[in-house]
Amino acid sequence: MPATVTALMERLWAHGHAAYVVGGSVRDSLLGRQAQDWDLATDARPDRLLAVFPGAVYENQFGTVAVREGDATHEVTTFRTDHEYADFRRPHRVEFGDDVRLDLARRDFTVNAIAWGREADAPANVLVDPFDGLADVGRMVLRAVGDPDARFAEDALRMVRAVRLAAVRELTIEPATLAAIREHAALAAHVSGERVSAELEKLLASPRPSIGLRLMADTGLLDVLLPELAAQRGVPQNKIEGEDLLDHTLRSVDAVPVDQPVVRLAALLHDVGKPGTVDDGPFRGHEVVGAELAEKVLERLRTPRTATERVVRLVRHHMFTYERDWGDAGVRRFIQRVGIDAVDDLFALREADNVGSGVPAEAHGLDELRARVDAELAASVVLDRSRLAVRGDDLMAELGLPAGPRLGRILDELLERVIAEPRLNDRATLLLLAESMLTEDR
Ligand code: ATP
Ligand code: MG
Repeated sequence: MPATVTALMERLWAHGHAAYVVGGSVRDSLLGRQAQDWDLATDARPDRLLAVFPGAVYENQFGTVAVREGDATHEVTTFRTDHEYADFRRPHRVEFGDDVRLDLARRDFTVNAIAWGREADAPANVLVDPFDGLADVGRMVLRAVGDPDARFAEDALRMVRAVRLAAVRELTIEPATLAAIREHAALAAHVSGERVSAELEKLLASPRPSIGLRLMADTGLLDVLLPELAAQRGVPQNKIEGEDLLDHTLRSVDAVPVDQPVVRLAALLHDVGKPGTVDDGPFRGHEVVGAELAEKVLERLRTPRTATERVVRLVRHHMFTYERDWGDAGVRRFIQRVGIDAVDDLFALREADNVGSGVPAEAHGLDELRARVDAELAASVVLDRSRLAVRGDDLMAELGLPAGPRLGRILDELLERVIAEPRLNDRATLLLLAESMLTEDR
């Protein structure tokens, strides 16, 4: 346990309060994994917490405050019970309590409902484990606290958390809990995009996201949360014998390196346009349809705009076909079309797409194109307007052109010429070219 956490607990005890570490960090420590955020629970009310920890700030209305200690920030939450779940979502009212056991009872799974710490006057730390979470840790089982039907009806996000936790922590979902997820999967439609997204993000950051995505497909959660992917089931692919489009998607996601979350998201969505274009030649234009659909999915999930734009662009461009006889200008046009800052991601996506199709990552000339792209980039060729030897201002001053769409068109045309023939990128030459374009225009 980090020294900063111990320090916070000591301070709470010294002020006469109970202090325990709870939730994911206890679970992960017992599983022998590196714990992430260490959350603390206490009987101190939020206003007391602010007095005990000057500088602490309220995180939400449910009694969580964030406390800085050294370089770390930890969440300290007052023991509570949750009430009045409306619309299968978060509680609308919470009641603060004095008993760690009642706090553990509101938690989702037995392995998440273990506390380690003590009351202020107790001689030593103890493990508080009213729901036999420790035994479930030993069996590597994920089990709802209490009646799974009731718990998932209270908060439908817990079903998504179940799948995510099971996949990420390699736990087996206990049969009654799993049956309850199947039964109540439709309720997941009430969960906000942000909360689903946070779970999906954690799932995609695990070594093999396909484990969790398959669980979603098997329980019916995929049909509710990502129907665009569920529609890939049974769509044939002439790729790997006996596998359908969904299998291909899941293989592709797993094949993206774990430290490239945006590319993993793009791999998840790269073929969402296929079910709707099965009969068009087949799948003709699926990357265009898919880019639009991917954008809708990501908006629904409230994905930040920059990530959404990157993913949509990758889906849109993932179908390029490289031919060995491309000229260097062709390679430069490819980079320009895709965008310099998307090139690396696009290669990563296509490599994963290849692996997902049962061929080597570098198949279809990908390695050769990569080398040629790198050579062009190393030569720092002109690929966008910013590197042209003339700017809009120059054209306005030298040729008396007014600002406006015409100026933009001429800059674009100059760029096209320079991409085809880099040696033209010289101020005098470009001014001459622009002048002749103007004359032709008249
Ligand atoms: P991670 O390791 O990814 O952080 P976690 O289990 O710690 O997983 P958190 O979102 O950090 O997930 O939640 C902390 C704790 O709060 C959980 O371990 C669980 O005890 C409780 N909890 C979180 N979400 C819910 C929920 N929807 N319903 C009931 N308890 C929850
Ligand atoms: Mg946590």
